[in-house]
Amino acid sequence: MAKQTWLSPSAINEADSCIRKWLMGRKWKLPREQKHSQTLGLVLHAVCDRFYRGEELYPPNWEVAYSKYTGDEEGRLGKADQALVSALVNAAIAEGILIQDPGIESEKEFKLHLAVVNGLQIVLTGCVDVVTPESIDDHKVTGAPRYYNEKALRNAHPMLIYAAVMAHEGKLEGESVWLRYNLFIKDPDNPKVKRVSVEVTQEELSAYVKNTLMPLLDRMTAAEVKGYGKEDWASVPCDERACDDYGGCPFRSICSGKESVDEYCRRFADSGDREGERNKALARLQGSSEVTENKKETGMNILKTVTQQYTQSTQSKETTTTPAPEAVVLQTAPAVATDRDMAPWANPECKACATGPIGGITKLGKACPGCKLYAKKTGLPDPADYEIIADTDSGTLLVLNGDGEEVASSNALSVGVAA
Ligand code: SF4
Repeated sequence: MAKQTWLSPSAINEADSCIRKWLMGRKWKLPREQKHSQTLGLVLHAVCDRFYRGEELYPPNWEVAYSKYTGDEEGRLGKADQALVSALVNAAIAEGILIQDPGIESEKEFKLHLAVVNGLQIVLTGCVDVVTPESIDDHKVTGAPRYYNEKALRNAHPMLIYAAVMAHEGKLEGESVWLRYNLFIKDPDNPKVKRVSVEVTQEELSAYVKNTLMPLLDRMTAAEVKGYGKEDWASVPCDERACDDYGGCPFRSICSGKESVDEYCRRFADSGDREGERNKALARLQGSSEVTENKKETGMNILKTVTQQYTQSTQSKETTTTPAPEAVVLQTAPAVATDRDMAPWANPECKACATGPIGGITKLGKACPGCKLYAKKTGLPDPADYEIIADTDSGTLLVLNGDGEEVASSNALSVGVAA
């Protein structure tokens, strides 16, 4: 089986701007500061998600941003920012940007075995804010809406990748898809919402995957298989045009020679434990069950067609010095057992984890945030007191209590196998 590399749309976007920045942040996992704007964004996304699910928008502790990986608190909004989030969400509801509809899926997670490139099995993983049969929405909290224009949207890696993956999963209908930025403009004196939309055809999506995405994945995997270590950072190709993007690259102090990688990491020593926990959780996540649900083939199944073409054309150009790509693997999720176990914190009515392997655990093998809030409200046990373990050898997902005793399990875990 080919070694896996896990790539998210935002990591791919980062690598396109600077391969070194991607390796430093995503592969070597150099720490980065949690920006206040990220806390605001996480909280607002959670409120929007509860709106789509018909849940209470502002339950106790709604102002807290929780890590997607560990469920730990990542930040907390003050009163002024709470009022700002509330005003923005209310405006989006009033203007019809946020609507409730059975055809809407919010926070749709995916995990897809795409192709083997340069000897690495690419596993695309991520979460789409909103998918409907005709559109992909991304919520953006921003103070600079001018950057989120139609041109940027039409060329945004994450949005185009979401569209291609959702088409692959049979979530989209028709020959084109609408990409939409829902802009929440964080001006405290004049909070506003705005929607930017572009229509992308099947041909355009196909051309993106073939001419842009696959060559970029080729560059990324080629850099990864070179096996650069942190001490080799200066040898990794970089693009200095990206140094000032999005408020400035966090690794500028290293690239400019102001501090070494070790000195940089020491500055974050206090947050070392949290990073360790995050990495452990990521490792568990990477052994978790398949999420992709490719239930039906559609005319928009760009990934399958184009990655196969790409693989064939790359194979024909291969030299003896480069390992030939293996066959493209597009895997489907196993059916989830209906008589599944329930974790001690699970809300049996929760829709967010309804298709998870164990009640109270999402399909990515983490404690369900909705159930976590439910547990807090109803006095059920806190998931933080339990350990979720994915045993990829036996295909089992386990929930253990503080004494190491099994309290719930599932054997619906599936590990992707390259063809
Ligand atoms: S500082 Fe610039 S060159 Fe260095 S990693 Fe960041 S974007 Fe790349």
